[in-house]
Formats: sequence, C-alpha cells, structure tokens
Amino acid sequence: MTDDCIFCKIVAKQVPSFTVYEDEKFMAFLDIHPNSKGHTLVIPKEHTQWTWEVPNFGVYWEVAKIVALAAMKSLDAKWVNFLTAGLGVPHSHIHVVPRFENDGQPEFPTMIGGKTPDENEMKEIAEKIRVAIPEFLPKKEESKVEETTEEETKIQLSKEDIAWLKRQAGLE
Ligand SMILES: [Zn+2]
Repeated sequence: MTDDCIFCKIVAKQVPSFTVYEDEKFMAFLDIHPNSKGHTLVIPKEHTQWTWEVPNFGVYWEVAKIVALAAMKSLDAKWVNFLTAGLGVPHSHIHVVPRFENDGQPEFPTMIGGKTPDENEMKEIAEKIRVAIPEFLPKKEESKVEETTEEETKIQLSKEDIAWLKRQAGLE
C-alpha cells in the first residue's frame, strides 16, 4: 500500500469504486473517465507501477480476459482493446475498453477520457458486467487439465518414447 496512490485506496476501500470483479490478488472496476461504455481497469491489489512487475502476470491477464468477455456479453460490445502503460496512475492497470459497431474510434482508442456517466448509470453498467463474470470463470475440470503435472506426462510416455529419449540423451 502506497499512501498517495488512488488505486491502493480503492483496494483498501478507502475510496469507493464501481467494482466488477475482485479476488484475493486482483480487482477490476469501472474507469470514471471512460473511453467507451464499460471501460474497466484491472489492477493487482499489490502496488507495482509497471505491468511486467506484477507477480502472476499470466493470471493477471486471465482476469483481464474474463472481464473482457463479460463486458462483451453483457454490453453487447463487438470487441475489446487491452491497453496498459503505468504512467497516468503509477499503479499497474490494464484498460479493458469495450468497442462497439461504428463507435467512431480508431483501432487504438484515443484514451483522452470521456465524461463520467451519472452514478446510476455507472452502477448499472458495473452490475451488468459483474453478473456476467461467473460464466467466464475457469471451470474446475478445465483447471485440472491445465494443471497437468510432470507425473501425468510420464505416464503418457510409451516404452518406445522413453527409449528414444534415452538415445537422444546418449544414455543408450
Ligand atoms: Zn497503488
């Protein structure tokens, strides 16, 4: 926690946010100067300035993907931009910017920030995305497959495979 960091204050719930996702390590909430409807910021709870400094970098981006899929589904967006820098607020954040048919923005949105919608509208958008999130969370069976261990790999090797590997290694 850095005392003067607005995102750390959001994590600590000292500053309110329109939260769409939260787990032990990450959090996602609406950007209050959105570049499009549903523009969300995904942050690590632990303060680091740069995205590459975030521990569990892959998991971080998985969270961004879940938020993106939920935003696309719930807001009927066509596609999303993922953008990240680390300058505006020096607490790592991935912008998830939903994009809409004929939204007039170039491939990479201008990121000049829009007008803050009124509170009710923000609440409504956050609620829509939040409700859509569970559908995109990894299923238990799927995560089992991803967690294929070395042991399972060994079991799948045939005698021929092992012999070939040994020859390659100069053991036979
Ligand atoms: Zn921070």
